[in-house]
Formats: sequence, structure tokens, C-alpha cells
Amino acid sequence: MAGVLFATAAPVLAAPLQIASIEIVAEGPATRVELTLSGVPRFQLFTLTDPHRVVVDIPAAALGPAALPFPAGQGAVRQVRAAHRPDGSLRLVFDMVEAVAPTSELRDDPLRSRLSIALNPLSRLADARPSSPGPAPPPAAAPAPLPPPSVPMPAPRPRAVVIAVDAGHGGHDPGALGAGGLREKDVTLAISRRLVELLNAEPGMRAVLTRGDDRFVDLRGRMERARSASADLFISIHADAALNRRARGSTVYVLSAKGATDEASRRLAARENAALIGGVELGDKDPVLASVLMDLSQNASISSSIAVGDAILKHLGGLGSLHRSRVQQAPFMVLKSPDVPSVLVETAYISNPAEERRLRSAQHQQALAEAIKAGIEDYFRANPPGAPAPPAQAPVTAAARHVVRRGDTLSTVAVRYGVSLASLRAANGLRSDTVRVGQTLRIPQDTG
Ligand SMILES: [Zn+2]
Repeated sequence: MAGVLFATAAPVLAAPLQIASIEIVAEGPATRVELTLSGVPRFQLFTLTDPHRVVVDIPAAALGPAALPFPAGQGAVRQVRAAHRPDGSLRLVFDMVEAVAPTSELRDDPLRSRLSIALNPLSRLADARPSSPGPAPPPAAAPAPLPPPSVPMPAPRPRAVVIAVDAGHGGHDPGALGAGGLREKDVTLAISRRLVELLNAEPGMRAVLTRGDDRFVDLRGRMERARSASADLFISIHADAALNRRARGSTVYVLSAKGATDEASRRLAARENAALIGGVELGDKDPVLASVLMDLSQNASISSSIAVGDAILKHLGGLGSLHRSRVQQAPFMVLKSPDVPSVLVETAYISNPAEERRLRSAQHQQALAEAIKAGIEDYFRANPPGAPAPPAQAPVTAAARHVVRRGDTLSTVAVRYGVSLASLRAANGLRSDTVRVGQTLRIPQDTG
């Protein structure tokens, strides 16, 4: 999705650039690589030989979740690899079938740039000018010149706030089932439709549904829908279930890059994720996923998500009981939009017979939708798109000091407080990334 925090707020935050997608397009003898990025990249493009590789180095960049898995090799590309380098840059490596002379074209857009890299086979370049007396062009072994480092940012234009409302489950995935036969997928759709209607009635707000009927939409489809609408907020609507029939109340979740707040949140996330990704469990044991989670650099959007979640909780609390009075964090796949605040609302417990009855009633569905809408309104009133989110809004950025706990690394602390590794290092005069338990770190105020 475009933008770092809000689509229009991208220029004000210095959070890492996200690689939104990587595509390899092979058309006849021509192969090109298409990268979409959340901002305007500076980059170096060069080739290495033996074996033939094309390398793109992008400073202060990270892979977005939709960039994975990498596309399979095709055309002149054998495979794609990536590495994060100690200086915070991302290196993309394209292993080539043959030597190429890459050329690049950047369609710069502060919100969504497109970098197109044509991989011109040297063999064909030579063929193309048989009359040329000179030798074939040498491999482009030297780094290509950097494009201009700064692009003037346009002034933010007032525009409608876009909210993607995601009705959980659908189609072959019914979600949780109530004892009285109520299906979560039907409740989530009913509440989501009401919410969209309420939001669209507000001037300056526009809402879209990720599904408008009883169909299954996978994770990528839900994200695509939000992305194509340039959503400023992603809100996923669910209803909870527990073995304990007395469990009740609303819970609001935001993504955790590290792990769940507690065991219950972890299990819930595992359950919700399993349906979305087709039953494939991406457990803690998956090192690729773990590293990707660490690299998402969702610090800015997690802070904002917590602020949205708090605002929604406040209104849901006025409506009925809260299962948890604070925003919970868990690794929900559906919240993994890299750059848009995203929350998941478990409206009530469908497994609680009394709450199942309420969830079934149009009146309560409407009341839930109104409470959620009021929270969204409060949030955007305090944090209009185009303005940077005040750090004070986010509980996690309130502290100016952090005492290192077991399991912390310098980078997890940086992510947690929404600051860059470099500024955290600088603020504490650190020359390495080693921290020890009990050490107090000064958290710099800036996000650079
Ligand atoms: Zn659900």
C-alpha cells in the first residue's frame, strides 16, 4: 500500500522504504523486473559476473509482505534473492541465465514508485548491431549513477479518508460457529456492510469492503482490495469463540511484529491465519517468516494502529463489555499491511449464547458498527491524513527510555519505538548492536 503511515503522510516520515512487490516479466527474448515501492528510491544498479548477477542496492529499504514469496525465475532470471545489509540497505540479487546489460527506468511517485529494470542480454545487443565495427558493449560492471537523491514532495492535498472494511471469513470458510447456528462469516459481513454505509455517509470519508457478499477472499485478495483503494486504514471485523461459553466482550487487536501479547492471542491469531492462508501454519519455527516479520518495519503503522484501536475500544466499551480493556497485539496475517494502520475487531463472542443472540440482532449489529465508526472518526479527527501522527498518540512511543529485557535486540527496540536503528545507535553512542539485559537505552524522539 502506498505511503508509510497514511498515503499522504509518506514524505514526513523517514521510515524505511517498502518494496511492495517484485515482478519478473518475460516477453519473448526480453526480460524485465518490475519493482513497486512505497516511496521514491535511491538505488544502485550494477552487474556482477561469474556467475552473472544483476544487483540492486536500495538504501534504508525493507521488503513488504506482499513482496514475498519471491517470483520464480523466468526469462533471463534464474532466481531472486535478497539480503539486508548492516547499513540498513536492502540488496536484491537477480541470478541471471546469461550476461545482461541492465537499464532502469524509474516512474517516481512519493506514494508508489515503479522501478522497471530491463535485462538486455548482451548476446542480443551484439546481434542487434552487426554492422558496428566496435566490440560488443562491455558488461556494466560499474555502479550506475545514483538518480537525484531528493524529489520535491507535493503538498498534501485534502482528500477523503479511505477505510478498507474487511468482513472476516466468507465462502467455504464460515469462521466460528455459535451454538445457535450463527456463522461468524454472516455476522462479519452484516456488521461490515453497516459500517461501510455509516462511513460513506460522512463527508470526507470513503469506505470499501474487501468482500461484499458471501465469498472467500484470500489474504492477498483482501490486501489488494485495500491497496487498490489506497486505504488509509484497514479494519478487519470478526467474532470471537472460546471453549468457555462465558467468555464475552469485545477485543481489539493490532499486529505484533514480535509475538502475541499472551497465549490466547497467539492461538486466536493462529486460528484466524490458518483459514486465510489455506491451512498452512506459519509457526514460530519458520525462520524465513520470522526474519520477514522483523524486516517489515511496521513501527509507524503499529503505533498508529494502537491509536486507532484505542479509539475504537473506547466506543465499544460504551456499548457493552470489553473482553480486554487494552489493545492486544498478535501476529495476524490480515493485519500485515506494511504501511497502513490496521486493526482487527473481535466484536463479541459468538460462542457465548447471550452474545450470539445480540450478534444476530440487526439493532446490535448497527450499534457495533456505530461504535466502530465513532472510534475511526475520533482517530482521524486527531490524526488527519497528511499530518504526521503525533508520537504521543502511541503508547509504545511514550517512554523516552527503554530497559533492555531478555529477548530484546537493538533492532526490536528500534521497531518498538518507531525509530531507526541508526538514530537509536547514535542516541546511545553505540558502536555495535550488542545490548545487554538491564541496560537502559535512550529513545530518540525523531523517527529518522
Ligand atoms: Zn474470525
